Amino acid sequence: MQPQLILEDTIYTLEQLQNVQAPQIALAGRSNVGKSSLINALAGRKKLARISATPGKTQSINYYRVEPWGFYLVDLPGYGYAKASKSDREKWAKLINAYLVGTSSLKALAVLLDCRIPPQKLDIDLTAYARSIKIPLLPVLTKADKCKQKERSAKQAEWARLLEGVKPIISSSSSGLGINALWDAMKLYALG
Ligand code: GDP
Repeated sequence: MQPQLILEDTIYTLEQLQNVQAPQIALAGRSNVGKSSLINALAGRKKLARISATPGKTQSINYYRVEPWGFYLVDLPGYGYAKASKSDREKWAKLINAYLVGTSSLKALAVLLDCRIPPQKLDIDLTAYARSIKIPLLPVLTKADKCKQKERSAKQAEWARLLEGVKPIISSSSSGLGINALWDAMKLYALG
């Protein structure tokens, strides 16, 4: 059965952070990593999350309720956009920090990683930070259709080493590869 994602809220500032009691799985990644496409693939819809022509523009947190399971997918703003101003970057860091530290019902952080590019400092910093505050990580390699099998496996192994054994799920929003596996992993974290 195809789960449904229902956009319940979009927030832009710290003050608007939601006090959602239901279990949450957050999704984070560098801007352009394919996060919107992945959310659409998870929902089985084309235009639920906006696929951006201008990356790094919106700095919102989107709360999607997942039916029939009742947990939330929380879409965090993309980071690492080269043209972002210093104040935008600081705003991002504050918002994410407040979200990660302040959300007691957060069950896991899905970190999206482009299978085509080597591990980036910002990704490593985010994963290290999440681990330091004991948030389980659910790494996801995106755009696998753009990578040869060998490259995918090498990236998966490289990330597993960096994350001390946590192996990324290999996914493609274009082909649907890994989407069911990702749902299964998120359900397990959210609902136990
Ligand atoms: P976001 O900025 O992380 O939300 O990334 P988007 O979902 O907007 O995607 C950025 C670009 O990558 C767009 O041009 C997408 O069409 C493309 N893209 C995203 N996912 C995939 C994928 O699985 N395969 C391929 N080939 N392209 C993808």
